[in-house]
Amino acid sequence: MIETRSSDLQAQVWTLDQQYLMRTYRRQPVLFVRGEGAYLYDAQGNRYLDFLAGVAVCNVGHCHPHLVARIQQQAEKLMHISNLLLSEPQARLAARLCELTGMERVFFCNCGAEACETAVKIARKFANTHKGTPDYEILVLEGSFHGRTMGAVSATMQPKYQLPFVPLLPGFRALPRNDLHALREAFSERTAAIFLEPIQGESGVNPLTDEYLLEAQSLCQRYNALFMIDEVQTGMGRTGAWFAYQHLGLQPDVITLAKGLGGGFPIGACLARGIAAEILQIGDHGSTFGGNLLACAAALATIEIIERENLCEQAARVGAYLQQRLLELQRQGAPMQEVRGRGLLIGVQLTEPIARAIVDKAFEKRLIINPVGDSILRFAPPLVIAEREVDEAIGILQEVFREART
Ligand SMILES: *Cc1c(COP(=O)(O)O)cnc(C)c1O
Repeated sequence: MIETRSSDLQAQVWTLDQQYLMRTYRRQPVLFVRGEGAYLYDAQGNRYLDFLAGVAVCNVGHCHPHLVARIQQQAEKLMHISNLLLSEPQARLAARLCELTGMERVFFCNCGAEACETAVKIARKFANTHKGTPDYEILVLEGSFHGRTMGAVSATMQPKYQLPFVPLLPGFRALPRNDLHALREAFSERTAAIFLEPIQGESGVNPLTDEYLLEAQSLCQRYNALFMIDEVQTGMGRTGAWFAYQHLGLQPDVITLAKGLGGGFPIGACLARGIAAEILQIGDHGSTFGGNLLACAAALATIEIIERENLCEQAARVGAYLQQRLLELQRQGAPMQEVRGRGLLIGVQLTEPIARAIVDKAFEKRLIINPVGDSILRFAPPLVIAEREVDEAIGILQEVFREART
């Protein structure tokens, strides 16, 4: 076999990618071949600091040895058996998730969009069986993101995701974020559910206020509506608690999870309690791969790592440090208007529409971050980073902003 030179390999993969993949993603033309903790290594052996973590997925870092070992062990025993047969990892994972959240039952799927579809189906069947009104509504927020499938995108109130795909699913009503008056006005007997992200990640790390979340919960109780929380991005320790709703001690009826749940292995879940947990019955919903043995083994290992290594606490501490260091950059004159977020989900609102240029410059200096729109930077590093990695990232950003000025 002739060994391909690494630069040739990268060029080869780029050519194939450009020719054969649908043009749905803007990609950096660098080929990564290995990862460890918060670092990625390209085909030439260059090391990059990863403050994207596969978009808030690799919370326990790349290729954590415990996660790798658990996936390997499970792969050697049994990979897939279908949801018509009993599964030990699935049963154990469901129990662990209920223990961590106070929920009562779990439906497993493969990604965030499917988890949100499941939540929407629960809300719809709940309305059809318990509300007795055909014109019920599911309330969602402007700037939300719940995924790309037709149901999830119909709940995703951002024109860029919705407009190319009209007509959308009816039955959703959008409210302005953090507007208590609009929230109170919107609730009625027709309200089947409200579906909220505690921090809207995809629209640029926009947190809901405590007051807003508490009011939404109490209105759900008053109008017999389901209080549904999308923790796909904010869950699994990302904001400094296992789940973001727990900072406030909320009690949702439905929770959706994915992204960080499998530590990099695809898995999603929809958790429910009370009435919501009993809505979907045999034959109502399903997924061939959902809660596959490998995926559940990966998620169990991920939970064990977060627990053993105190990664919730670490995310809170290191996240606060990252915010503080970003504010220092702002004081030094970086074109930043606001730093927001919680734990290790942080957004920086820039004063100019230069997010793409900043992200590209940072990438050249081997720091991976993510732009949201024209003027927001998103930071979602693995939760295993320490202050040292923050200092390294800040050093790079300092140079990037300095060069952007000249
Ligand atoms: C990413 C995301 C989704 C969709 O997850 P996919 O796995 O990409 O389908 C849904 N909700 C939120 C809050 C997300 O951040």
